Amino acid sequence: MRAAILTAYREDLQIDTVPDPACEADGVVLRVLACGICRSDWHGWVGEHPKVKPGAIPGHEYCGEVVEAGPLARWKPGDRVIAPFILACGQCPDCQAGQSTICKSQRVPGFGEPGAYAQYISVPRAHNLARLPEAISPVLAAGLGCRVTTAWHALTGRADLRAGEWLAVHGTGGIGLSALILGRALGARVVVVDVVPEKLSHALSLGAEAAFDAREGDVAARIVEATGGGAHVSIEALGIAATANASIDCLRPLGRHVQVGLPTGHTARMEVHMNAIYMKQLAVYGTRGMPAWRYPSLLDLITRGVVDMSPLIARTVPLSGASAELRAFDGPMPPGVAVIDDFTR
Ligand SMILES: [Zn+2]
Ligand SMILES: [Zn+2]
Repeated sequence: MRAAILTAYREDLQIDTVPDPACEADGVVLRVLACGICRSDWHGWVGEHPKVKPGAIPGHEYCGEVVEAGPLARWKPGDRVIAPFILACGQCPDCQAGQSTICKSQRVPGFGEPGAYAQYISVPRAHNLARLPEAISPVLAAGLGCRVTTAWHALTGRADLRAGEWLAVHGTGGIGLSALILGRALGARVVVVDVVPEKLSHALSLGAEAAFDAREGDVAARIVEATGGGAHVSIEALGIAATANASIDCLRPLGRHVQVGLPTGHTARMEVHMNAIYMKQLAVYGTRGMPAWRYPSLLDLITRGVVDMSPLIARTVPLSGASAELRAFDGPMPPGVAVIDDFTR
């Protein structure tokens, strides 16, 4: 099969022919229909992610068609499925309690095992997969393995966002944009922050009530003013200290900060405004992915037309276009995400 391989950090991925993947007993092999290009892939590409080594095939947000199913998998060839990026074991106490995102023996394609920047992918633990509804295109579904699900779980599974509350979103990349759209669907009032004017106007067109350029003045103070005392929930969707602190500072007392952005840097440590957390008695949540059993709650909203996630997708690219997209994460990005939908070129 054709696959894009990371041969050296920060170099173009090499498109090569590699052996087709083998099917595991509890898994499936998918013909990849689409795979999103995510900032998390960039973390691996620049060499910051401990599990991404030269020789890796990136790609963790994918959907596909089953071409082979192991004897223990309940899928059959021809089934179209969405994969959460976390493939949990399903057996351990955390999985049994429904908290599969913290499964200690989880497997994550693209991070320590071959990902979906390829024509085929072996997906073990196929019980994590969800059926791809007819009404959702593969390109849109690719985002349902990572950014959309992560935003959904951050808002509903962690911060418990309520209708009428103010939601601040710091960083309007794939996850931030998802949080805006889903937050609006939940009845929240949304303010967004970014440094790309085009993304700010895009967010306003999608229902944000205010959009602030972080390069212009004290963005947290402006959010506190715009929301009459601060946001109830704030999402950090980039992973750097400036946005993490703006998120903490823009909250009203008893507000909830959700750390969604994967912290950047080799140590991923940063200085945060702990006194604000103390004085305002804030809650600070970390979040990563979504337990697979929560898929129906999200897919139902999309297939019923309650929420339209299509503004999330900016462009589709062939496999050979992935390197340029990864490189682009070095700087500010235009609105929306890129998805690989052609694995022959
Ligand atoms: Zn991702
Ligand atoms: Zn487990």
